[in-house]
Amino acid sequence: MTFPFTLTDDPRWCLEIVGFDPMTEAAIEAVLALSNGYAGVRSALEEGHASARPATFLAGVFNTPAQPQAPELEAPVPELVVAPDWSRLRVVAEGQELGLDYVELLDMRRTLDMRQGVLLRTWRVRDGAGRITALRSLRCVSLADRQACAYALTISPENYSGYVELTTTVDGQVHNENKTLHLAPLSAGPIASGGLLHMRSLQSGYELAYAAHAELAGVAPGALESELSFSAAGAFSQRFAWQATQGQSYTLTKLVALATSREQSAPAAHVTTHCAALAAAGLAPLLDAHRAAWAERWANADIAIAGDAEIQRQVRFAIYQLIGAASPADEHASVGARALTGERYRGHVFWDNEIFAWPFYLYTHPPTARALLMYRYHTLSGARAKAAEMGYAGAMYPWEAADSGVEVTPAFMISGGIRVPVLTGIEEHHISADIAYAVGQYSLISGDNDFLGLHGAEMLFDIARFWASRVRLGDDGAYHIDKVIGPDEYHESVDDNAYTNLLARWSLREALRVAERLRAVQPAPWQDLCAQLSLSPADLARWAEVAEGLATGYDPASGLIEQFRGYHGLEEIDLSDHDTNVATADARLGWYAMQRTKVLKQADVLMALILLWDEFTPAVRAANFRYYEPRTSHDSSLSPSFHALFAARLGELELAERYLRQAALIDLNFTRKGHAGASGGVHIAALGGIWQALVFGFLGLRTEGERLHVEPHIPPSWGQVSTTIHWRGRRLRISAEPNGAWEIAG
Ligand code: BGC
Repeated sequence: MTFPFTLTDDPRWCLEIVGFDPMTEAAIEAVLALSNGYAGVRSALEEGHASARPATFLAGVFNTPAQPQAPELEAPVPELVVAPDWSRLRVVAEGQELGLDYVELLDMRRTLDMRQGVLLRTWRVRDGAGRITALRSLRCVSLADRQACAYALTISPENYSGYVELTTTVDGQVHNENKTLHLAPLSAGPIASGGLLHMRSLQSGYELAYAAHAELAGVAPGALESELSFSAAGAFSQRFAWQATQGQSYTLTKLVALATSREQSAPAAHVTTHCAALAAAGLAPLLDAHRAAWAERWANADIAIAGDAEIQRQVRFAIYQLIGAASPADEHASVGARALTGERYRGHVFWDNEIFAWPFYLYTHPPTARALLMYRYHTLSGARAKAAEMGYAGAMYPWEAADSGVEVTPAFMISGGIRVPVLTGIEEHHISADIAYAVGQYSLISGDNDFLGLHGAEMLFDIARFWASRVRLGDDGAYHIDKVIGPDEYHESVDDNAYTNLLARWSLREALRVAERLRAVQPAPWQDLCAQLSLSPADLARWAEVAEGLATGYDPASGLIEQFRGYHGLEEIDLSDHDTNVATADARLGWYAMQRTKVLKQADVLMALILLWDEFTPAVRAANFRYYEPRTSHDSSLSPSFHALFAARLGELELAERYLRQAALIDLNFTRKGHAGASGGVHIAALGGIWQALVFGFLGLRTEGERLHVEPHIPPSWGQVSTTIHWRGRRLRISAEPNGAWEIAG
C-alpha cells in the first residue's frame, strides 16, 4: 500500500517544522493542532516524549473536580476536560523502543497542510545498534464527519530486517494539568470492528465513547501477529508484530469514531455502529470527504495575498485555526480563549468569541455564527441568574462561561498565601454589550430574518434591561456606570469606562430599533416577548432616556474620549522600549502601580471606535489613535491585531504591517515564554483579529447603516488582495490593489 496522501506543493499553504526542540514542543503541538469544532487534537508526537503534552478536547465537555485543581485556586473551577488520547503509538524494532527519548533522531519534518487540514510527519531514527527506521504518519480530524478521526503510519526498516511491533492505543488514563482527574472508565472491550472505550466525567456526568479500528497492510496475513488488549482502568490497545524486511514499507491505518452524551443518547452504541461504517469504507473516502469539506470552507474564506508569501501563510494559519474552532452543528458550546488546542483559560468562553473570532464566521460561514449566538441564547438563564444575584434586572452575561452559562471566573486566587479577589468576574460587564453587538451584526449581515424574532430580540431586550438597571443618574443629569473593568484590564473599579458606556448605549439603541421593527413587521413575536418578559412602554422609554443620557467621556475640544473618569490625570510611563516578550508592564511595575499609570494592557477606547466607526468623525478617530496607541503595552494578545486594523484604516501602512506581524507571531514565534506563547493553546482572539485586520482594515470593508463600503489600503509589496464574504445571503468576491482600485463581484 502506498502512502495515502499527497501534500499541497505550495509553501503558502503549509506550515513546516523541521527538527525537534523539546523547549518549543508545547507551542508547536498547539500550532499544528487539528480541530473541527467538535474535537481538537494537539499534535503531540504519537509515540510520546518527556516534553509532550498530548490532549484531545471535545467541545463543551467540561467538568468541575471535587477539589481545587491548582494551588492558586480557592475553589474548584469547571474546565475543558482532556479527553482520551486516541493517537498513542508504541514502535519497537528488534526489542528497542523507537521513541525520541530512547533513540537518535536523524531528521524530522512536520507539515501542517492547512489547505487539506492534514498533519504529515516524516522522520528517521537510529537505535544504539545502528538500525535506521524511516517513518511517516498522517493525521486528520474530519471536517466532513466531525466525529471521526484518522491516522496512518508507514514504517520502513532502512538498513535491517527484523521483528517490528506497533501498538496503537486509545488511552483514557489521561488527566488535565496538575494531574487533575476528570474521567472514570465505564467499560473497555472488543467490538466487531476493533475496540471500544466508554468513560464518564466524574462530576458533570458526560459520557464519552471512542471506538477504533486498526489494520496493518504489507504483511502476509499468516505472518502477522495481531492482538487487542483492554485495561479496566480505561484503555485499549491493538498490537501488530511481524518480521519486517529491509526496504519494505508497512502501513498502519487507524479510524476512530467519537461521541459524547452531549449529542447522543447512547454514545457507546453510536460509536460502535459508526466505527463499523468507517472500517468498512476505509481511509480513502474519509480523507476525500475531509478534503472536500476543507476545500469548501477555503473557497468561502481564503484571503489571497498575491505578493507576500510570508503574510499569506500567516493569514492562512489564522483562517485554518478559525475554521477548526467551531461547529455549526453545536448550539451548546462556543469558542474558548484557546479554542480546542490547549488548557490555558480552562476552555472558558470570553468576549474573545463575539468580538474577535465570531465576525469571521459571520462573513464566511453564517450557520456557524448562528450556532455560536445560540450558545448565548441557550445560556440566557445563566445571564439572568447573574444579573439577579448582583441586584440588576435582565441578563448580565458571565465574563467567563463554560457549558452551563453561569459565571465561572474564579472569585479568588491565592497568591503568596494571600487571598486576592479576581475582579473581572464581578466588574467586567462589557461582555453583555459585546453579545448584543454580535446579535445586531448578525441581523444586519447574515440575511437570516428569523433569528431576531425567535431569539435575538429576547437577548437584546434582556441585555437592555440589564444596562437600564445598571446605570446611576448623577447630579450632573447624566447616567453613569460605576465600578467596572473595561477591555483594558490594567485599570480596575473605574467609573464610566468609555468602551463599556458606548457599547451599552449601542445595545440600548439597538434594542429600541429592534422593538420598533418587530412591532411593525412581526407583531406576533413582539406581543409574545412583551408578555414573556413583562415589557412595558415604560421600559422602552427608560432605555431611550438612559441611552441618550449616558456619559461617554468625549471632549469636543480635543476630540479625545477619556478611557474612564480620571484617566487623563494618571501618570505617564514611556513605553517606547517595552517588550511584552521580555516582561509585561504589570510584571515590571507591579499590579497595583498599574492603577496609577496610563499604561493600557490592550486597546480599549480604540476598540469602541472600531466597532462604532461611523459614530465618530475621521478627526476624532485619528486623535484617539494618536493618543492611545503609544500608551498601550499590547500585553494582551487581543491588542496588536486591532491596532493593525485601525492603522490600516487610517492608511498608516507601515505601522499596520508592523502590528499585523506582531499579531501573527503571538502563536508562530515558538520561543515566546509561558502563557504568552501558544503552549497553552493558540490565541483564537488574536487569530480572529488578524482576519478582521485584513478584511476590515487593509481591505477596508465596513457597513454603514445597511450598506457595504470598501476603502482599501493595501501595502505595495502585497499586490492584489482578494477574499470572499457572505452578505445577506449572497456570496461576494472582493479584490483590491495597492493603488486603491477595488472590485466587488457576485
Ligand atoms: C484579556 C481579555 C481576554 C482574556 C482571554 C485577558 O488577558 O485581557 O481581554 O478576554 O485574556 O483571552
